[in-house]
Amino acid sequence: MTRKVLVMGEWKEGSLRNVSFEAISAGKTIAEGGEVVGLLLGETVKPLAESLIHFGADRVVIVEDEQLAKYTTDAFSQALMAVIEKENPDAIVMGHTALGKDLSPKIAAKLDTGLISDVTSIEIEGGNVVFTRPIYSGKAFEKKIFTDEKIFVTIRPNNIPSLPKDETRTGDITSLSPEIKDLRTVVKEVVRKTSDGVDLSEAKVIVAGGRGVKSEEGFQVLQQLADVLGGAVGASRGACDAGYCDYSLQIGQTGKVVTPDLYIACGISGAIQHLAGMSNSKVIVAINKDPEANIFKVADYGIVGDLFEVVPLLTEEFKKL
Ligand code: FAD
Repeated sequence: MTRKVLVMGEWKEGSLRNVSFEAISAGKTIAEGGEVVGLLLGETVKPLAESLIHFGADRVVIVEDEQLAKYTTDAFSQALMAVIEKENPDAIVMGHTALGKDLSPKIAAKLDTGLISDVTSIEIEGGNVVFTRPIYSGKAFEKKIFTDEKIFVTIRPNNIPSLPKDETRTGDITSLSPEIKDLRTVVKEVVRKTSDGVDLSEAKVIVAGGRGVKSEEGFQVLQQLADVLGGAVGASRGACDAGYCDYSLQIGQTGKVVTPDLYIACGISGAIQHLAGMSNSKVIVAINKDPEANIFKVADYGIVGDLFEVVPLLTEEFKKL
């Protein structure tokens, strides 16, 4: 069965986030040969539209409005609902990001449809589109199908590979101008807490530190390794609670859920609440002084040793590559 799939792209500071391309790839699978329509909402998004086509969208709809310059549930849901009404897609896909987590339940409620969130893989089995998602903080996976006609999913970043970029692909870019009105909230200002650098939730490599890092200065040692690997620094709640780093870096049940290609856990014991945020990483390396540390149970490679000796050695070796 072919489907028309609407895929919402996401941008940050003038660039499309990788999850947009992964969502297009997810949309292609769901479409089963049908049409994949990219969607961009923002104040000026036209320059980004072609990229969605290069990564697999058949055409792109854009809604440009100054009220969409900064995300608000109100404005984005009005714009998205207008596009859904116009396009009447069989399926809707967006990233399981802060934006997607906020927007998708509201849209699902408005459409009176189901929502499968945090999808990590999609297969076509026996005529059904089967969605896999983690449950119980990543300790198990469930497979779900829609019994409703409309499919609506959010996909976890870094899990569904995007399609190769093809700059020869072409497609229509059409503009829609729905009326966005009676907003109950507007964003006056965004005060950024974290510095520039690789976005933790999209990083391919994460060097994470725990209480074993012992100080804010200790985190500089991890930052140097992350810089050499083009990755981001993350942390356990133990390290955040101790004031070694900002809570925006916290990974785990009450922090960010990440699935990088490489996760290097330094001085982290591996409490269940931490594992909930990183155990689905593709390769896990643990560095810990305690050979009995729980983190070694989920690690692909374990180094029993002092992180302040091991991490600088790794940094030096990776610099040579
Ligand atoms: P510790 O458990 O103290 O471990 C430090 C480790 O460092 C030890 O294994 C030690 O052997 C090692 N070490 C010490 N020095 C060195 C050295 N020089 N070299 C190498 N290794 C060294 N935690 C999270 O991380 N994320 C969450 O989202 C989260 N949510 C929670 C939610 C709830 C409701 C609760 C109750 C707890 C939550 N926690 C969370 C806390 C969690 O239970 C642990 O307390 C926390 O993860 C421990 O952090 P840690 O591993 O850094 O510290």
